[in-house]
Amino acid sequence: MGIFHMVLFVFLTIFACFFIYRIFRGANKVVYRDKKGTYAPILENHQWKIRGKPDLILKNNWYVTVGEKKSGISAKNSPRFHDQMQLTAGFVLAEQYGTVRGGYLYYRNKSFYIKNTTRQRQKLADILEYMETSEKGGPVPVNPSKVKCRSCIYRKKQCTFSK
Ligand code: SF4
Repeated sequence: MGIFHMVLFVFLTIFACFFIYRIFRGANKVVYRDKKGTYAPILENHQWKIRGKPDLILKNNWYVTVGEKKSGISAKNSPRFHDQMQLTAGFVLAEQYGTVRGGYLYYRNKSFYIKNTTRQRQKLADILEYMETSEKGGPVPVNPSKVKCRSCIYRKKQCTFSK
């Protein structure tokens, strides 16, 4: 077999695998959308004790994808941490539709794909634990900054570190 035939064979094999994968995976269908002017129920996860409304949940034959639309732009090469946590909360809420592999954060100028990893979920679990401790008046680590504190719900409540 000449080199040309070998390359052609490899190319056709890759193409066939991709084609078969796409057929079995199926197309992404919208199963949930929170859009202005339409009704979307509040989703709950009792185990995580969270409730909310992700912007978009897509599902194909194999897995679920979550989408969060942000009104601002991203000036960096990675998404903002609190946006990542919001998307991760969306993963937890979307589990009722199937296995969540990850999701997208859509800024006005770019988008990022975030995987639904154990590490990502652990970060969310830590934050939820801090929030619960804080609600009970217990000590939690803080990282004050003018930008963060401006929109923080704890600023006018119990936080004495706010800037
Ligand atoms: S107000 Fe307190 S809890 Fe909120 S961001 Fe600032 S330092 Fe953190």
